[in-house]
Amino acid sequence: MEFAFIFTKINILIIILAICSPCKFIQSPMDFGSSSLLQTTNTSSIDFGRIIFSPPSAVLRPQSTDDISLLLTFLSASSFSKVTVAARGAGHSIHAQSQALDGIVIEMDSLPSDIHIHKKLDDEHGFSYADVSGGALWVELLEESLKFGLAPRSWTDYLYLSIGGTLSNGGISGQTFKYGPQISNVLELDVVTGKGDLITCSPTKSSELFFAVLGGLGQFGIITRARILLQDAPEKVKWFRAFYDDFDIFIKDQELLVSMPDLVDYLEGFVVPNEESLLSSSIAFPAPLHSVPSFHLSNVYYCIEFAVHDFQVEPSVVEQTVEKITTQMSYLQPYIYSVEVSYFDFLNRVRMEEMSLRARGLWEVPHPWLNMFVPKFGIKEFKDLLMDNMSLNQFKGPILIYPILKNKWDTNTSAVLPDTEDLIYIVGVLQSAAPAICSAECLAGIVRRNRRIVGAASAERIGAKQYLAQQPSLLHWRSHFGGEWNRFVARKARFDPLAILGPGQGIFPRVR
Ligand code: FAD
Repeated sequence: MEFAFIFTKINILIIILAICSPCKFIQSPMDFGSSSLLQTTNTSSIDFGRIIFSPPSAVLRPQSTDDISLLLTFLSASSFSKVTVAARGAGHSIHAQSQALDGIVIEMDSLPSDIHIHKKLDDEHGFSYADVSGGALWVELLEESLKFGLAPRSWTDYLYLSIGGTLSNGGISGQTFKYGPQISNVLELDVVTGKGDLITCSPTKSSELFFAVLGGLGQFGIITRARILLQDAPEKVKWFRAFYDDFDIFIKDQELLVSMPDLVDYLEGFVVPNEESLLSSSIAFPAPLHSVPSFHLSNVYYCIEFAVHDFQVEPSVVEQTVEKITTQMSYLQPYIYSVEVSYFDFLNRVRMEEMSLRARGLWEVPHPWLNMFVPKFGIKEFKDLLMDNMSLNQFKGPILIYPILKNKWDTNTSAVLPDTEDLIYIVGVLQSAAPAICSAECLAGIVRRNRRIVGAASAERIGAKQYLAQQPSLLHWRSHFGGEWNRFVARKARFDPLAILGPGQGIFPRVR
């Protein structure tokens, strides 16, 4: 019964779309009862970037995977239709990647977010894992898995992102050097392809689809379920910050910590361009005054943030681990401090910053962010490039710099990394541009500046690749993928031959 109802509603929409598209024919919400399948909403044309706003013609709020499959089956069978479809997780993209101008946005959060945890028994082979909807948020998975004393191994800094959204990109944070990105910690996926086929895939079953979708920018299919690897969760985390006034020593210490995966559980680093930046990044981690260097002594500092898991078995174990780490470091004495917090609070630290920014009206503002993977050989030159192009004393937002290891990434996935076998730095220039201090012209200037930086950083001597970016043209996309472009195109032809999916990325025009 429900199936028939849903199919009828989708058919109605498609027929109207086929006739009317690209005109914006549905301007007001349409009530389809409790299934609430089709309506337009403002949220589907807005993302965290707040730079591009592309209204769709309609929004699908699926109640099951079948709804998504039906829609894509219908669209791929309709030779007259030119409708595109974008999955929207939490909409935390910067450049409209989850938008679909005049197309259909599928709001993935409407899928039932049941999370099933499998805790491995002592005598059982295999792993503990969670089966979770592609539209669920990482914070929901954390809350549920902690009830079993378990948690995923690899994280993003912010947890209010969807499982399907981060798996379509990579998913990185301070655990990546140790466990790889989130896309290296997935055991199995359910995917609805651009042709409407619902396929369960894994590294050994329909593996081409599995690897295509991971880091695949939403181009090959919609992730409706993911099986995420879990491990024992620590009770608490000992969380450190150490300061530097010398970039070379900062980098050297980061590389030292990467070489100690048995001791260090989390490693990030950031530039501290001004006092305000230090305060705003310390909301979840307040610094005792004497532990923070003064800006009268230097114009810029660097900070390493690392953490050690505390399973509360024997307190001395953590202390000994910390001592082994810190005695080898060369931070600016005496500027180091630590706190001990619950594992949940540690992972959820950016939420506190979000709340503070929201309270000051500074969260829902434009975010012209720039994220780049920079090979070790280019990191110093890239740092100079950043400093030459930005006025640090005015800068609002964090500038992250921390190392990851390429060998923790599976090269079969669609994710793009620089062409190097060595260590890679992720650099995140996470700038806010609140309209009160940055006009539309100023915002456009930042976007142009970012393009300049990307242009210079893509040259061979720096060898950087963008992360989470929308490329301005097909030529840029080809150069972004480099040697993997042909594989990416072949995967598109196989799983979404009409290029229905992921129009917001601006890679493939819809085939009619
Ligand atoms: P959306 O913006 O909704 O979608 C992103 C892309 O994925 C789109 O192309 C969309 O069509 C596609 N997509 C969404 N759901 C699915 C699905 N189920 N199946 C197939 N395709 C899908 N990233 C990191 O790696 N590390 C971080 O530490 C980090 N921190 C962040 C902090 C903040 C405050 C913000 C705003 C972003 C951060 N990000 C980080 C970036 C984030 O991982 C990406 O923007 C990610 O895409 C966001 O997930 P989302 O659910 O909001 O995706």
